[in-house]
Amino acid sequence: MTPAIRNPINKLQVNARLLRSLHQRLMQAGTWMGTLLPQDCQLCGAQSGATLLCAGCRDALPVLPACCPQCAMPAFSGEICGACLKRPPQFDATLAAMRYEFPADHLVLALKFGARLPIASLLADLMLERIHSVHQSKICKNEMPLPDLLIPMPLHRTRLAERGFNQAVEISRHLANHLHRPLMTGAVWRHRDTLPQSELPLPKRRANVRGAFKSHTDFTGRYIAVVDDVMTSGSTLDELARVLKRAGARRVENWIVARTWTERNIRGALSV
Ligand SMILES: [Zn+2]
Ligand SMILES: [Zn+2]
Repeated sequence: MTPAIRNPINKLQVNARLLRSLHQRLMQAGTWMGTLLPQDCQLCGAQSGATLLCAGCRDALPVLPACCPQCAMPAFSGEICGACLKRPPQFDATLAAMRYEFPADHLVLALKFGARLPIASLLADLMLERIHSVHQSKICKNEMPLPDLLIPMPLHRTRLAERGFNQAVEISRHLANHLHRPLMTGAVWRHRDTLPQSELPLPKRRANVRGAFKSHTDFTGRYIAVVDDVMTSGSTLDELARVLKRAGARRVENWIVARTWTERNIRGALSV
């Protein structure tokens, strides 16, 4: 046995690498087989043909009505909301496919904590519908094209070793393939293992993630889409956008599966 493998920490790292490689192969095989075999709906288990959701469950997904283009919170007529006017975030826009409510939350949790990896392609498809509709309207107005590159929200290495995969990377891979945009997974990383934001009250979330990310990449002039599964207070995305802007990024958009609308952040968004 080599000294590198005898060290228990190195051994854990080697095992994690092997698991990740095995997981990539299973993902590829699963995607290929999914196009051939009849599927069961990921929510109710009914037969759903070649797709991962039956028509009934697809119709039950919580759509996002008119919302603030910058933070995706409720806003009259889709204008910039009161919270973004009062304290403009570092990111320029947020595109969310759904509200984080039943049954969208079941899909997100089944991917993240149930490791049902085929759900990543389903969530990416739902995001693509939203991305296409927003960008199509922008293209009509001769505004922004699609971003130069995609960056998935990084996980700290400890969390990655526990879970075995990063759900944001899995979703981003499908988006990058469909949109023919490069995916950068190592350019920004979490150098500090923060407490899960869901365990903290909203006022403490900003302090929890302050200084959590690092990057040595020059993003001068780049238009970047940051991909994540859920956006709640937006503090983590704001901190990542701050790091990307400091590294020269021209524009940062959040591409999110599901946006949490709580009573508290709805009040903040609608206040003027
Ligand atoms: Zn169903
Ligand atoms: Zn807003």
